[in-house]
Amino acid sequence: MTEDKLVVLGESGVGKSALINQFVHSYFIEVYDPTIEDVYLKEVKIDDEWHLLNILDTFEYEDYTPMKEIWLNVGEAFLIVYSITSRRSFDKVATIREEVKMMQEYSDYVSIILVGNKCDLENERQISREEGQDLAKTFNCPFFETSAKDRINVDESFFSLAREKKFQNEKR
Ligand code: GDP
Ligand code: MG
Repeated sequence: MTEDKLVVLGESGVGKSALINQFVHSYFIEVYDPTIEDVYLKEVKIDDEWHLLNILDTFEYEDYTPMKEIWLNVGEAFLIVYSITSRRSFDKVATIREEVKMMQEYSDYVSIILVGNKCDLENERQISREEGQDLAKTFNCPFFETSAKDRINVDESFFSLAREKKFQNEKR
């Protein structure tokens, strides 16, 4: 079985913990301790191959966050999340990606996918789907709009990340 070390990154409140819990446990957590760092395990079959997904939930992605180096070092693939209702969280994505690339040995083949969460909140939308898509295009990475609440594109995102890891590793 392949083990994939996945790390979920993004500004506080974008729904990282909600997405992971929806993926692993199939329910939506309305309020989750924002300071929790936790590891989740899930076995899934992707393209006829069993994967053990080891998913690290993170918090407070800031310049000074002491744990950040460890997160970026141990991860093999990164789900970068913003909220479609928050321009601030979207503006943070580029920095996060730069830092991921900086910390990874094979920086040209780093495995990243971009996720715009909370797509159920259409009337609070600040980031259009096109804007998300365009950013992902400049990163040359897969892109999904998700809703942890309504379970939209949740499995797809994590599966895509595991596929992306395999794809990038094969190019190294
Ligand atoms: P984190 O800090 O990135 O881990 O964010 P959380 O998972 O704790 O979510 C922050 C808040 O956003 C919580 O109140 C969640 O209930 C809410 N939330 C997360 N995902 C969604 C979503 O897809 N749709 C909606 N409407 N709310 C969400
Ligand atoms: Mg959280």
